[in-house]
Amino acid sequence: MTHVFHRNTHQSYPVAVAGDGPYIIAADGRRYLDASGGAAVSCLGHNATEVVEAIQKQVASLAYAHTSFFTTEPMEQLADFLIERAPAGLEYVYFVSGGSEAVEAALKLARQYFTETGQPQRRHLIARRQSYHGNTLGALATGGNAWRRAQFEPLLTQVSHLTPCYAYREQGEQESDDAFTTRLAQELEDEILRLGADEVMAFVAEPVVGATLGAVPPVPGYFRKIREVCDRYGVLLILDEVMCGMGRTGTLFAIEEDGVSPDITTIAKGLGAGYQPIGATLVSGRIYAAIAAGTGFFQHGHTYIGHATACAAALAVQQAIESRQLLSRVQVLGTALQQRLRSRLGDHPHIGDLRGRGLFQGIELVRDRTTKEPFDPALKLHARIKQAAMDEGLMCYPMGGTLDGRQGDHILLAPAFILEESHLDELVEKLERAITLALRAVKG
Ligand code: PLP
Repeated sequence: MTHVFHRNTHQSYPVAVAGDGPYIIAADGRRYLDASGGAAVSCLGHNATEVVEAIQKQVASLAYAHTSFFTTEPMEQLADFLIERAPAGLEYVYFVSGGSEAVEAALKLARQYFTETGQPQRRHLIARRQSYHGNTLGALATGGNAWRRAQFEPLLTQVSHLTPCYAYREQGEQESDDAFTTRLAQELEDEILRLGADEVMAFVAEPVVGATLGAVPPVPGYFRKIREVCDRYGVLLILDEVMCGMGRTGTLFAIEEDGVSPDITTIAKGLGAGYQPIGATLVSGRIYAAIAAGTGFFQHGHTYIGHATACAAALAVQQAIESRQLLSRVQVLGTALQQRLRSRLGDHPHIGDLRGRGLFQGIELVRDRTTKEPFDPALKLHARIKQAAMDEGLMCYPMGGTLDGRQGDHILLAPAFILEESHLDELVEKLERAITLALRAVKG
């Protein structure tokens, strides 16, 4: 009997009691290889000494000071660290406690920016189908993940959802990358013009899509074209790097590889690597200056903004990633993982697509490889794979297909940056077994 309101009221959970590098150990002694970093969070594994020490030191001196009275050294140092490494133009950091909060802050910053600059009618958001930006009502309205939204309609903001840059299902067989990305940028431009250019506030997108599609990198050139359209109409570009940022794809910010600078970026998950809950919204100098020259006050406070211990932990995480040279390791391990997945699963009759960047890899399962027809979502193949993997001692992050047939069940892999190659072998072996067992159950 538990008094905890677990999200899934039908499920029982093993009790996690300890961490050992990339493993989580349960109370019964079972070890689980964490191949998803929880939900793309635990990028340093589960017992990084330098982070534990930084937390202990900070708590011993000052755990927390409310930001309406004080600033703190860890908060200032973490902001400096991030801005020194952020895409050009991003100059200020607003700290929060997680990803949805970071997205809400981004949306409100964009609104306040346009109010302060005399364009309060710019309220309309444009985002993409099969995207996820968080569970609070504003962030949920922004995301185009139909099943997460369904029970809460009507949602809060006016949002249009366009075609995602999801090559496997949206790019025509004969369509070149250039033609595909031009078509998607044109779709954005058409929607801006349909709504009225001076009504549109921002375009919101994940540089590499995570939770809804299992790691889908953009087709080269896509974000450059999107940036051009946004600039043409004074629309802000908000990039949500809550899941794909902080080194997960092999660069600190995932968008670095696409050579584009956003107006606002959100980060969370890997920022604190699970050692403390923390998120942040990075803002361009232009937006900050407009608010500073106007009311001078961002009308959006949370009790735990810039929590000193959370900032100290995140700073230690980011310094460890840098001093242990883990970004290049992510690139090497990412390629090695992709190769193993391709050689073990590449010809599998029910694997439609393998994709990803760095240690952010996705697998899409389909009933028919030729037609790309997904399995019936009612079979809950993804949930069966998750359970079969847990039985094997492996954590992977599954997500279901949609009833409109626009995506299959998929699995997201986002392991810690500290893995050894032997862990990759264990990961792929266990995953292959879990997929086989789950498919056997649905096919009878
Ligand atoms: N944005 C993206 C891209 C995410 O993947 C997530 C969570 O998965 C969120 C926002 C919401 O973050 P949180 O769960 O920390 O609120």
